[in-house]
Amino acid sequence: MRVRVVKCHACGGHKQLPSQTAYVYCDFCGALSDWDFAMACSQGNALPGPAYEALHRRLAPAIKQAEWQGDRATVKALYTQLFTEHIRLCPSSYSPRIVDGDYRVRYLDYYTDTMMIHDMDPRVAAWTQYMNQRIAELRQTQMMQGAVMSFGIFAVALGAQPQALQFPDQPFWAVYQAFRNQLATQMHAVEEAGSLAKYPDEVTRTLVERVGISAFVQGWLPYLSENMRGHLIRDAGLTDQYIDIQPPPLQLRRCGGCGSQLDVVTGARRVICFRCGKKIDVSAHEFPCPGCGAPSSVPAGSTDYACPYCSVRIQGTTAPTAGPR
Ligand SMILES: [Zn+2]
Ligand SMILES: [Zn+2]
Ligand SMILES: [Zn+2]
Repeated sequence: MRVRVVKCHACGGHKQLPSQTAYVYCDFCGALSDWDFAMACSQGNALPGPAYEALHRRLAPAIKQAEWQGDRATVKALYTQLFTEHIRLCPSSYSPRIVDGDYRVRYLDYYTDTMMIHDMDPRVAAWTQYMNQRIAELRQTQMMQGAVMSFGIFAVALGAQPQALQFPDQPFWAVYQAFRNQLATQMHAVEEAGSLAKYPDEVTRTLVERVGISAFVQGWLPYLSENMRGHLIRDAGLTDQYIDIQPPPLQLRRCGGCGSQLDVVTGARRVICFRCGKKIDVSAHEFPCPGCGAPSSVPAGSTDYACPYCSVRIQGTTAPTAGPR
Protein backbone atom coordinates (compact mmCIF):
# COMPACT_ATOMS: atom_id res chain seq x y z
CA MET A 1 0.00 0.00 0.00
CA ARG A 2 1.41 3.37 -1.03
CA VAL A 3 1.13 6.12 1.57
CA ARG A 4 2.50 9.59 1.86
CA VAL A 5 5.55 10.12 4.05
CA VAL A 6 4.34 12.63 6.62
CA LYS A 7 4.60 13.10 10.35
CA CYS A 8 1.68 15.00 11.89
CA HIS A 9 2.54 18.49 13.16
CA ALA A 10 -0.10 18.17 15.88
CA CYS A 11 0.48 14.68 17.34
CA GLY A 12 3.62 13.30 15.67
CA GLY A 13 1.74 10.34 14.15
CA HIS A 14 2.98 8.93 10.83
CA LYS A 15 0.51 8.58 7.99
CA GLN A 16 -0.77 4.99 7.72
CA LEU A 17 -3.58 5.16 5.20
CA PRO A 18 -3.68 6.53 1.63
CA SER A 19 -5.36 9.93 1.23
CA GLN A 20 -8.23 10.24 -1.23
CA THR A 21 -7.66 13.97 -1.83
CA ALA A 22 -4.83 16.51 -1.78
CA TYR A 23 -5.88 17.46 1.76
CA VAL A 24 -4.01 14.92 3.88
CA TYR A 25 -5.55 14.36 7.32
CA CYS A 26 -3.84 12.66 10.24
CA ASP A 27 -5.05 9.08 10.87
CA PHE A 28 -4.54 9.54 14.63
CA CYS A 29 -5.83 13.02 15.57
CA GLY A 30 -7.71 14.28 12.50
CA ALA A 31 -5.51 17.37 12.05
CA LEU A 32 -4.82 18.62 8.52
CA SER A 33 -1.27 17.34 8.36
CA ASP A 34 -0.10 17.77 4.78
CA TRP A 35 -0.85 18.78 1.20
CA ASP A 36 -0.37 16.32 -1.65
CA PHE A 37 0.76 18.29 -4.70
CA ALA A 38 0.72 15.35 -7.14
CA MET A 39 -2.84 14.54 -6.09
CA ALA A 40 -3.86 18.19 -6.52
CA CYS A 41 -2.39 18.17 -10.05
CA SER A 42 -4.06 14.89 -10.99
CA GLN A 43 -7.45 16.19 -9.86
CA GLY A 44 -7.04 19.40 -11.86
CA ASN A 45 -8.66 22.75 -11.31
CA ALA A 46 -12.44 22.85 -11.22
CA LEU A 47 -13.82 26.00 -12.83
CA PRO A 48 -16.95 27.57 -11.36
CA GLY A 49 -18.39 28.56 -14.74
CA PRO A 50 -20.13 31.64 -16.21
CA ALA A 51 -22.83 32.07 -13.52
CA TYR A 52 -20.10 32.51 -10.88
CA GLU A 53 -18.09 34.82 -13.15
CA ALA A 54 -21.20 36.97 -13.60
CA LEU A 55 -21.77 37.12 -9.83
CA HIS A 56 -18.12 38.08 -9.36
CA ARG A 57 -18.43 40.89 -11.92
CA ARG A 58 -21.64 42.10 -10.28
CA LEU A 59 -20.21 42.11 -6.72
CA ALA A 60 -16.69 43.41 -7.50
CA PRO A 61 -17.59 47.14 -7.70
CA ALA A 62 -19.59 46.97 -4.44
CA ILE A 63 -16.67 45.21 -2.71
CA LYS A 64 -14.23 47.86 -4.00
CA GLN A 65 -16.53 50.65 -2.84
CA ALA A 66 -17.05 49.17 0.63
CA GLU A 67 -13.27 48.70 0.95
CA TRP A 68 -12.73 52.30 -0.06
CA GLN A 69 -15.18 53.41 2.63
CA GLY A 70 -13.58 51.13 5.21
CA ASP A 71 -16.93 49.35 5.65
CA ARG A 72 -15.53 46.01 6.75
CA ALA A 73 -18.89 44.42 7.61
CA THR A 74 -20.16 44.96 4.06
CA VAL A 75 -16.91 43.70 2.49
CA LYS A 76 -17.14 40.56 4.63
CA ALA A 77 -20.82 40.00 3.77
CA LEU A 78 -20.18 40.40 0.02
CA TYR A 79 -17.16 38.07 0.03
CA THR A 80 -19.17 35.54 2.05
CA GLN A 81 -21.91 35.65 -0.60
CA LEU A 82 -19.34 35.22 -3.39
CA PHE A 83 -17.41 32.32 -1.84
CA THR A 84 -20.53 30.53 -0.65
CA GLU A 85 -21.42 30.30 -4.33
CA HIS A 86 -17.89 29.20 -5.28
CA ILE A 87 -18.00 26.39 -2.71
CA ARG A 88 -21.42 25.30 -3.99
CA LEU A 89 -20.17 25.16 -7.59
CA CYS A 90 -16.63 23.80 -6.98
CA PRO A 91 -16.68 21.73 -3.78
CA SER A 92 -13.73 19.68 -5.09
CA SER A 93 -11.48 22.76 -4.79
CA TYR A 94 -11.87 22.60 -1.01
CA SER A 95 -11.24 20.16 1.80
CA PRO A 96 -13.57 17.15 1.67
CA ARG A 97 -14.82 18.40 5.05
CA ILE A 98 -16.54 21.33 3.28
CA VAL A 99 -19.77 19.25 3.05
CA ASP A 100 -20.22 19.78 6.81
CA GLY A 101 -22.23 22.95 7.43
CA ASP A 102 -20.34 23.94 10.57
CA TYR A 103 -16.97 23.44 8.88
CA ARG A 104 -18.17 25.49 5.89
CA VAL A 105 -19.29 28.45 8.04
CA ARG A 106 -15.99 28.50 9.88
CA TYR A 107 -13.94 28.12 6.70
CA LEU A 108 -15.83 31.04 5.11
CA ASP A 109 -15.13 33.15 8.19
CA TYR A 110 -11.40 32.37 7.87
CA TYR A 111 -11.25 32.78 4.09
CA THR A 112 -13.16 36.07 3.92
CA ASP A 113 -10.76 37.43 6.56
CA THR A 114 -7.78 36.53 4.36
CA MET A 115 -9.42 38.18 1.32
CA MET A 116 -9.95 41.39 3.31
CA ILE A 117 -6.31 41.35 4.39
CA HIS A 118 -5.28 40.66 0.79
CA ASP A 119 -7.24 43.67 -0.43
CA MET A 120 -6.92 46.12 2.46
CA ASP A 121 -3.58 45.60 4.23
CA PRO A 122 -1.18 48.17 2.72
CA ARG A 123 1.85 45.87 3.24
CA VAL A 124 0.19 43.14 1.15
CA ALA A 125 -1.09 45.64 -1.40
CA ALA A 126 2.46 46.92 -1.97
CA TRP A 127 3.61 43.38 -2.83
CA THR A 128 0.57 42.81 -5.04
CA GLN A 129 1.43 45.93 -7.01
CA TYR A 130 5.08 44.83 -7.27
CA MET A 131 4.00 41.38 -8.47
CA ASN A 132 1.67 42.86 -11.08
CA GLN A 133 4.61 44.87 -12.46
CA ARG A 134 6.67 41.67 -12.79
CA ILE A 135 3.74 39.94 -14.53
CA ALA A 136 3.49 42.87 -16.96
CA GLU A 137 7.21 42.50 -17.74
CA LEU A 138 6.78 38.76 -18.28
CA ARG A 139 3.90 39.42 -20.70
CA GLN A 140 6.14 41.87 -22.52
CA THR A 141 8.77 39.17 -23.18
CA GLN A 142 6.04 36.91 -24.49
CA MET A 143 4.83 39.56 -26.93
CA MET A 144 8.38 40.02 -28.18
CA GLN A 145 8.77 36.29 -28.56
CA GLY A 146 5.44 36.24 -30.40
CA ALA A 147 6.77 38.86 -32.84
CA VAL A 148 9.86 36.73 -33.48
CA MET A 149 7.73 33.65 -33.90
CA SER A 150 5.66 35.24 -36.64
CA PHE A 151 8.81 35.23 -38.82
CA GLY A 152 8.98 31.52 -38.25
CA ILE A 153 6.00 30.91 -40.53
CA PHE A 154 8.16 28.93 -42.95
CA ALA A 155 9.04 26.50 -40.20
CA VAL A 156 5.32 25.88 -39.67
CA ALA A 157 4.82 25.47 -43.41
CA LEU A 158 7.58 22.85 -43.41
CA GLY A 159 5.66 20.80 -40.86
CA ALA A 160 7.56 21.71 -37.68
CA GLN A 161 5.56 21.71 -34.43
CA PRO A 162 4.33 25.21 -33.60
CA GLN A 163 5.97 26.26 -30.37
CA ALA A 164 3.61 26.15 -27.38
CA LEU A 165 3.33 29.21 -25.18
CA GLN A 166 6.31 29.11 -22.84
CA PHE A 167 7.57 31.87 -20.55
CA PRO A 168 11.31 32.52 -20.26
CA ASP A 169 12.83 31.38 -16.95
CA GLN A 170 14.29 34.58 -15.58
CA PRO A 171 11.30 36.96 -15.74
CA PHE A 172 9.03 34.14 -14.56
CA TRP A 173 11.29 33.64 -11.53
CA ALA A 174 10.87 37.35 -10.70
CA VAL A 175 7.07 36.85 -10.70
CA TYR A 176 7.41 33.79 -8.47
CA GLN A 177 9.67 35.60 -5.99
CA ALA A 178 7.21 38.51 -5.84
CA PHE A 179 4.34 36.08 -5.27
CA ARG A 180 6.19 34.32 -2.45
CA ASN A 181 6.86 37.65 -0.75
CA GLN A 182 3.26 38.73 -1.20
CA LEU A 183 1.91 35.46 0.22
CA ALA A 184 4.36 35.43 3.15
CA THR A 185 3.37 39.02 4.01
CA GLN A 186 -0.29 38.09 3.77
CA MET A 187 0.08 34.97 5.95
CA HIS A 188 1.98 37.00 8.53
CA ALA A 189 -0.87 39.55 8.60
CA VAL A 190 -3.49 36.76 8.77
CA GLU A 191 -1.76 35.25 11.79
CA GLU A 192 -1.22 38.68 13.38
CA ALA A 193 -4.94 39.47 13.06
CA GLY A 194 -5.86 36.20 14.79
CA SER A 195 -7.53 34.89 11.64
CA LEU A 196 -5.34 31.80 11.22
CA ALA A 197 -6.86 30.51 14.47
CA LYS A 198 -10.24 30.56 12.70
CA TYR A 199 -9.12 27.87 10.25
CA PRO A 200 -11.50 24.98 10.96
CA ASP A 201 -8.73 22.36 10.89
CA GLU A 202 -5.66 22.12 13.06
CA VAL A 203 -3.04 23.60 10.73
CA THR A 204 0.26 25.42 10.73
CA ARG A 205 0.92 28.68 8.93
CA THR A 206 3.54 26.90 6.78
CA LEU A 207 1.00 24.30 5.64
CA VAL A 208 -1.68 26.84 4.72
CA GLU A 209 0.98 28.85 2.89
CA ARG A 210 2.05 25.73 0.97
CA VAL A 211 -1.54 25.17 -0.22
CA GLY A 212 -1.50 28.74 -1.60
CA ILE A 213 1.89 28.22 -3.27
CA SER A 214 0.61 24.98 -4.79
CA ALA A 215 -2.29 26.80 -6.50
CA PHE A 216 0.17 29.30 -8.01
CA VAL A 217 2.55 26.57 -9.20
CA GLN A 218 -0.27 24.49 -10.68
CA GLY A 219 -1.49 27.49 -12.67
CA TRP A 220 1.90 28.37 -14.15
CA LEU A 221 3.46 24.93 -14.60
CA PRO A 222 2.14 24.24 -18.14
CA TYR A 223 3.82 27.43 -19.43
CA LEU A 224 7.32 26.83 -18.05
CA SER A 225 10.44 25.15 -19.39
CA GLU A 226 11.16 21.59 -18.30
CA ASN A 227 14.13 22.83 -16.30
CA MET A 228 12.13 25.53 -14.53
CA ARG A 229 9.33 23.08 -13.62
CA GLY A 230 11.59 20.86 -11.54
CA HIS A 231 13.37 23.83 -10.01
CA LEU A 232 10.07 25.49 -9.08
CA ILE A 233 8.53 22.38 -7.48
CA ARG A 234 11.65 21.87 -5.36
CA ASP A 235 11.89 25.52 -4.32
CA ALA A 236 8.17 25.61 -3.46
CA GLY A 237 8.56 22.58 -1.15
CA LEU A 238 6.03 20.62 -3.22
CA THR A 239 8.10 17.48 -3.76
CA ASP A 240 5.97 14.47 -2.89
CA GLN A 241 7.36 11.48 -0.99
CA TYR A 242 5.58 8.15 -0.67
CA ILE A 243 6.45 4.82 0.87
CA ASP A 244 5.12 1.29 0.34
CA ILE A 245 3.88 -0.24 3.60
CA GLN A 246 1.86 -3.27 4.68
CA PRO A 247 -1.78 -2.28 5.26
CA PRO A 248 -2.14 -1.67 9.03
CA PRO A 249 -4.73 -3.56 11.11
CA LEU A 250 -7.99 -1.60 11.18
CA GLN A 251 -10.83 -1.28 13.63
CA LEU A 252 -14.38 -0.71 12.54
CA ARG A 253 -16.14 2.38 13.88
CA ARG A 254 -19.42 3.98 12.90
CA CYS A 255 -19.65 7.72 12.33
CA GLY A 256 -21.98 9.46 14.80
CA GLY A 257 -22.57 12.15 12.19
CA CYS A 258 -23.80 10.06 9.24
CA GLY A 259 -23.62 6.38 10.20
CA SER A 260 -20.86 5.50 7.69
CA GLN A 261 -18.36 2.80 8.51
CA LEU A 262 -14.98 4.21 9.48
CA ASP A 263 -11.83 2.10 9.26
CA VAL A 264 -9.49 3.46 11.89
CA VAL A 265 -5.89 2.55 12.72
CA THR A 266 -4.88 1.23 16.15
CA GLY A 267 -4.24 4.12 18.52
CA ALA A 268 -6.42 6.63 16.65
CA ARG A 269 -8.11 9.20 18.87
CA ARG A 270 -9.94 11.39 16.40
CA VAL A 271 -10.54 10.81 12.71
CA ILE A 272 -12.26 12.62 9.85
CA CYS A 273 -15.36 11.07 8.29
CA PHE A 274 -14.94 11.83 4.59
CA ARG A 275 -18.62 11.28 3.90
CA CYS A 276 -20.09 13.92 6.25
CA GLY A 277 -16.90 15.92 6.95
CA LYS A 278 -17.18 15.68 10.73
CA LYS A 279 -14.33 14.91 13.09
CA ILE A 280 -15.21 11.82 15.10
CA ASP A 281 -13.91 10.90 18.54
CA VAL A 282 -12.80 7.26 18.48
CA SER A 283 -10.82 7.32 21.74
CA ALA A 284 -13.66 5.90 23.84
CA HIS A 285 -16.19 3.09 23.39
CA GLU A 286 -19.02 3.48 20.95
CA PHE A 287 -22.35 4.51 22.43
CA PRO A 288 -25.35 2.25 21.89
CA CYS A 289 -28.38 4.24 20.84
CA PRO A 290 -31.24 4.15 23.41
CA GLY A 291 -33.67 4.10 20.46
CA CYS A 292 -32.39 1.48 18.00
CA GLY A 293 -29.44 0.01 19.90
CA ALA A 294 -26.96 0.65 17.09
CA PRO A 295 -23.53 1.72 18.32
CA SER A 296 -21.80 4.84 16.97
CA SER A 297 -18.82 7.06 17.79
CA VAL A 298 -19.49 10.57 19.06
CA PRO A 299 -18.65 13.63 16.89
CA ALA A 300 -15.66 15.40 18.52
CA GLY A 301 -16.68 18.18 20.88
CA SER A 302 -20.30 17.02 21.25
CA THR A 303 -21.81 15.64 24.42
CA ASP A 304 -25.16 14.90 22.91
CA TYR A 305 -25.92 13.99 19.28
CA ALA A 306 -28.67 12.53 17.15
CA CYS A 307 -28.38 8.84 16.28
CA PRO A 308 -27.40 8.70 12.59
CA TYR A 309 -29.77 5.74 12.09
CA CYS A 310 -32.95 6.69 13.98
CA SER A 311 -32.41 10.34 15.13
CA VAL A 312 -32.96 9.59 18.83
CA ARG A 313 -30.66 11.77 21.02
CA ILE A 314 -27.59 10.00 22.41
CA GLN A 315 -25.72 11.27 25.45
CA GLY A 316 -22.02 10.80 24.76
CA THR A 317 -18.94 11.98 26.53
CA THR A 318 -15.79 12.92 24.68
CA ALA A 319 -12.20 12.52 25.77
CA PRO A 320 -11.02 15.40 28.00
CA THR A 321 -8.60 16.59 25.28
CA ALA A 322 -11.43 17.09 22.75
CA GLY A 323 -11.60 20.72 21.68
CA PRO A 324 -14.04 22.50 19.38
CA ARG A 325 -11.89 21.82 16.31
ZN1 LIG B 1 -2.04 13.95 14.26
ZN1 LIG C 1 -19.88 10.74 8.81
ZN1 LIG D 1 -30.69 4.92 16.88
